[in-house]
Amino acid sequence: MQDYQAVLEYIAEAVEPSFGKGKVADYIPALARVPASKFGMAVQLPTGESFSVGDAAEPFSIQSISKLFVLELAMSHFGDMVWTRVGKEPSGDRFNSMIKLEMEHGVPRNPFINPGALATLDLLMGLKGDTKHRIRNFLRYLAMNDAVDVDETVMMSELGHSDLNRAMAHLMKSYGNVEMDVDTLLETYCFQCAMTMSCKDLALAGLPLATGGYSSVHDGTILSAAQAKRINAVMLTCGMYDSVGSFAYRVGVPAKSGVGGGILAVIPGKMSVAVWSPELDQFGNSYVGTAALEMFTSMTHTGIF
Ligand code: GLU
Repeated sequence: MQDYQAVLEYIAEAVEPSFGKGKVADYIPALARVPASKFGMAVQLPTGESFSVGDAAEPFSIQSISKLFVLELAMSHFGDMVWTRVGKEPSGDRFNSMIKLEMEHGVPRNPFINPGALATLDLLMGLKGDTKHRIRNFLRYLAMNDAVDVDETVMMSELGHSDLNRAMAHLMKSYGNVEMDVDTLLETYCFQCAMTMSCKDLALAGLPLATGGYSSVHDGTILSAAQAKRINAVMLTCGMYDSVGSFAYRVGVPAKSGVGGGILAVIPGKMSVAVWSPELDQFGNSYVGTAALEMFTSMTHTGIF
């Protein structure tokens, strides 16, 4: 058994020199106000034990990490039908690029780039009931924390700066790959991205993916084993945008990042790990967060390769 607490404390010190090398996201104005010096990290084991360091209990904007949870919801309700709406190949482009969308007839490369997340959410919105409530309740259940909620300021800030995402939704609608009203879809998308969770919340929420879909900590089956396996595979190949190859090379586990500076990493069969540091690299992934995860899997020998 490793001393995970000691590992986290070592990493929190060792990443210090990496601060100042990335840039906090500012294309969503409300995100630019988050202090660049924040750093938190949390580890959740299937036994229920957890470890954390720094600002691990502080909620932050999960942004694209929400795409992972919306995919889980869509898979649990629609199964493989999800893959008629989005592909499962890396895009090789920025998370908000629409360059391939027209060439590929409105079917996004994967559920983790923005157009793919919009198509996945559109599918989920076909279910009866309020999709925002469904997403919030699911996150509360996964995090085992009823305080998980949306940051309305971030939501409205993104909604007011969502021309590019709106353009993607309209393009997909013209190809029949978006059914909902585009305004409602965009509002719901900004809602999911503006959910706030802490590293501790996220590490708990990622646990079922590390344990084959069933989590004894949650005392429930969240996904089938096959679905958990498939989502991990798509995370490994598409979860870190167009630096997914170098992330796999450096860290070696499935992970999903968000422009709020969070990364949720799943170590199949072992644990889930969440890290938060708002400065991003040129690809939109947390600069310090990636370095911290690289140290973690190297020190604990938990990379999957
Ligand atoms: N809400 C962000 C957007 O649509 C999510 C991007 C991200 O976290 O990578 O641009």
